[in-house]
Amino acid sequence: MSIVRVALDVPVPTLFDYHCEDAGGAQIGARVLVPFGRKQAVGVVLEVSTHSTVDRTKLRPVTRVLEDIEPLPDDLIALLRFCSEYYHHPIGEVVIGALPTRYRRAGAASSRRRPRSFAITPAGRAASSSSALARRPAQRRALARLLQQPDDAASVPPNTAAEQRALKQLVVHGWAKETATEVARTDTSTPPEPAPPLTAEQLAAVRAFCTQPKKFRAWLLHGITGSGKTEVYLHVMAPVLAAGGQVLMLIPEIGLTPQLEARVRARFGGHSVVTLHSALAEGERAANWAMAQSGAARIVLGTRSAIFTPLPRLALVVVDEEHDPSFKQIEGMRYSARDLAIWRARQYDIPVILGSATPSLETYHGVLKGRYGSARLTARANGSLLPRIRIVSTVGVKLMEGLAPQVLAAIEQRRQRSEQALVFINRRGYAPVLVCPACGWAPGCHRCSARMVLHKPRPALSCHHCGHDEPVPVACADCGNVDLRPLGYGTQRIEAALNAAFPTARVLRIDRDTTRKRGAWTDMRLSIDRRDVDLLIGTQLLAKGHDFPGLSLVCVLNADRSLYSTDFRAAEQLFAQLMQVAGRAGRRELPGEVLIQTAFPQHPLYRAVQTHDYDAYAATLLAEREQAGFPPFMFQAVLRAEALRIEDAMAFLRTAALASASFAELVTVFDPTPASMQRLKGRERAQLLVQSASRAALHRFLDRWTLVLRDGKHARVRWDIDVDPLGI
Ligand code: ADP
Ligand code: ZN
Ligand code: ZN
Repeated sequence: MSIVRVALDVPVPTLFDYHCEDAGGAQIGARVLVPFGRKQAVGVVLEVSTHSTVDRTKLRPVTRVLEDIEPLPDDLIALLRFCSEYYHHPIGEVVIGALPTRYRRAGAASSRRRPRSFAITPAGRAASSSSALARRPAQRRALARLLQQPDDAASVPPNTAAEQRALKQLVVHGWAKETATEVARTDTSTPPEPAPPLTAEQLAAVRAFCTQPKKFRAWLLHGITGSGKTEVYLHVMAPVLAAGGQVLMLIPEIGLTPQLEARVRARFGGHSVVTLHSALAEGERAANWAMAQSGAARIVLGTRSAIFTPLPRLALVVVDEEHDPSFKQIEGMRYSARDLAIWRARQYDIPVILGSATPSLETYHGVLKGRYGSARLTARANGSLLPRIRIVSTVGVKLMEGLAPQVLAAIEQRRQRSEQALVFINRRGYAPVLVCPACGWAPGCHRCSARMVLHKPRPALSCHHCGHDEPVPVACADCGNVDLRPLGYGTQRIEAALNAAFPTARVLRIDRDTTRKRGAWTDMRLSIDRRDVDLLIGTQLLAKGHDFPGLSLVCVLNADRSLYSTDFRAAEQLFAQLMQVAGRAGRRELPGEVLIQTAFPQHPLYRAVQTHDYDAYAATLLAEREQAGFPPFMFQAVLRAEALRIEDAMAFLRTAALASASFAELVTVFDPTPASMQRLKGRERAQLLVQSASRAALHRFLDRWTLVLRDGKHARVRWDIDVDPLGI
């Protein structure tokens, strides 16, 4: 009898034993349906054994082996096991969480067997010359057919029912494997688009990255906005694809995908490109995932979670905009897709390219220390110049609805030249606060420690943290004053101000509220390209990656609020964001200009942005981090706790700190503190930071600590560990 150890989506760090009679199905990586409690659950077999520590009479059988996709390959399972250990997250949640949602269920759609095809295994190759098949002609012929395929990954569908039976027998012997049949969506109708001749810097980068294509190396492609980083990726990908390899390209946001996807498809028309991100319909995502697994998809373009795609012929990993915070998952298993990309490249012994105009300090530090290689692109590929950046001081200046006269004048100038302008304000809604000028009262969310944001035109208050909406109060809850005023500016208020200041201008607001509908953002981009729009107002959605030929002015409002944040990464992130948004201006013939409106015109961060001097500013920040004992000079983890009452969360953390005292070697365990946003969605949150100069020591500590914490009874508290936290 085979015993299978199954990963299930439950928050305990163990596998569950079942017995399984189906010899073919008991393979590692297979998805199975098993009884769990009184329900049926989908799990993944991680181990197969002949014995179990569980009493035989208590072992339950696997209900069914789900065969709609191939078993997960060993290397993906190795990655998931690593994640479970490194991020201290229960293995079952890690494994099931890595599957596309469709495959987490045994729904009608996914349990129906799809047409199959078959490929040879190494054992089958060896068996073909043995005498074992002498008395089984049907199997011998079937194996011979598999042997004729160009390579081991190429699969064929059975021609007849008899052949299908023979092929299935081969699978039972381990000589062949079944794969889901996928029609590769290759687009061979349009000839591939020719590549432009590379600049000398691009060429040097491509040469460096291609020198040892079959060896692990992490590379930073450090290139200013518009320097042609994408072109470098495409050139490095070409030989990899030609040699039959697969490429995984991670990108931060869905909003970026259409342009990039179109470029990749245009260049590699003959190869199948699939995308993986949360905006895809469930079925499409599952299908794309299966195509990656079967090897039919040669290029996978995806966001964070695409790092968990099975890719049998993975030969290159690219992480575009590697500094982007969205690569870090901030709930559940809190992984960093960028860090895992490096891990996967090492696992496959292949290169990984991290691209950015403003690398994360972790990556940049890795280059300075010689752990990563690097290539620089210091000029724009099309010869355009970086925009001129002006600091517009608001000190002693009368603003018109939040806009300085200089900003309005610059916009007016573009209007006269029929060029486009962008006003960047990273805050949606009308005003971030509604206040009572008489007593200072401001409505807050009853579930979060946050102010309610005023939205118009149908006025309502909305919490941006939990999504709670409510009507605008008619009077102050404290003093009864009916004259409540909006304070501060959001995209809607700036939109109204610009409409008033430039009545004939066509104004387009681009934020999460206006782009929620599927396809809305694509339509907007087209209208910008057609020049149906004069003035853009946008949040960070607009900061990244887009190329708007008619845009020659970017005005940044309200950046100041990140200057004095308590988060030690705030400066790094603001700098990156400003460099990105500045990079939108003047990417073609039009010279670009950027105005940063600020009450702190002397701030060194703005000075650094103004001179486009990443290296100098990074050196300053790194020196500060080293002095203060912050990453990348320290390795951190945060124990996060939440409960209905803050006292319970704090008490749990104090107990946890005490319990760690006996084994806290080479690590510093700080005092618990309420989270910077203490209340979220009705739960009170607190946290405890631990850090060490040694990653190994930190993880030795975390290993023991999680054992202790899991042993304890903490009925009122939910906790988890955030390894390498981004925000503390
Ligand atoms: P980045 O990703 O660094 O911001 P892109 O790869 O998007 O830059 O390139 C910016 C623009 O320059 C694009 O329009 C691209 O087509 C163009 N470009 C890139 N490389 C070259 C080149 N070698 N010659 C001419 N144009 C190029
Ligand atoms: Zn809320
Ligand atoms: Zn009041």
